[in-house]
Amino acid sequence: TTLANQIAAGEVVVRPASCVKELVENSLDAGAKTITVTLREGGISEITVQDDGIGMDEADAVMAFDRHATSKVYDERDLVRIRSLGFRGEALASIAAVAKVTLTTRTRDSERAAEVTIEGGEMAPLRHVGAAPGTRIEVRDLFYNTPARLKYMRTVQTEQAKAVEVVQKAALSRPDVSFCCQTEHHVLFQTPGNGDVRTVLASLYGVGEAKQLLAIEETTPDYKVSGYIGRPTQGRGTRAHAHLFINGRPVRHIGVHQAVIQGYRNRLMVGKQPIYAISIEMDPGLVDVNVHPHKAEVRFSEEADVTRCVARAVAAALDSTLL
Ligand code: ADP
Ligand code: MG
Repeated sequence: TTLANQIAAGEVVVRPASCVKELVENSLDAGAKTITVTLREGGISEITVQDDGIGMDEADAVMAFDRHATSKVYDERDLVRIRSLGFRGEALASIAAVAKVTLTTRTRDSERAAEVTIEGGEMAPLRHVGAAPGTRIEVRDLFYNTPARLKYMRTVQTEQAKAVEVVQKAALSRPDVSFCCQTEHHVLFQTPGNGDVRTVLASLYGVGEAKQLLAIEETTPDYKVSGYIGRPTQGRGTRAHAHLFINGRPVRHIGVHQAVIQGYRNRLMVGKQPIYAISIEMDPGLVDVNVHPHKAEVRFSEEADVTRCVARAVAAALDSTLL
């Protein structure tokens, strides 16, 4: 029922950023090489995600909004997430329960695209339209039918910043994919999709800033830490430029963040938080990804090993240039 969908939607879609996250993940799952995210009023009045992935045939387009209508085989890493959240095949159904959605999609061997619109739980008859292969999902008037939730939206500026952060993290975790993130007025950033994380950082923070970043690399039998960190004088007073990825997924971890700071060994300028994009590869058995869908917190079975490794990686990168 519509109500059941709205309740379940509360678990998946709490704000524009969570909607963007689900849509971008779908585009990546569809093998997209180019993804464009457009936000109007911070995503509250409109979010559009367009990709050049495999697309859906007409039957799948109609089915995509049914709860549990997943077409995907999930790997072991996702199992915890699925079990704890019942997320599998729920994103589009949930989004359609709390917004007006138009899906336009075309597979590579189809000559035309299929378009369906859902409003208030009602799907309008499928139409045929012209469009390039791939998928475009337009989400309008988020929470228009759930005023209680709409009330929790912060300012347009805040919602936009959170949504943009989601796209930034996706772009950093997939440097091989070209991302464009824009408002209805202008492009916020665009990455080339050339596979190079430093180029992504240049797209996000400017070429000058990215040039100064130091590469880090530390490998132990259990962990491989790599990425880029700012020099002690770079950065701002906020953690907006702190990006951590575990096995390719953007996560937060206070212990790792503290380890990064510790690696700077009091060289950081007072009041500044460092810029970093750090990626840790490890046995999925050594990390618990359950905790929460939106906060993306993780727990390590050997936290001290991880943080030691990170602090050492940061210190080594700084030592190599600051001697
Ligand atoms: P899940 O991603 O867990 O399968 P979703 O509700 O996010 O569930 O999506 C439902 C289904 O719709 C997907 O399994 C997929 O088949 C299809 N789908 C959604 N987005 C896209 C996309 N961008 N490109 C191709 N297929 C998509
Ligand atoms: Mg999905």
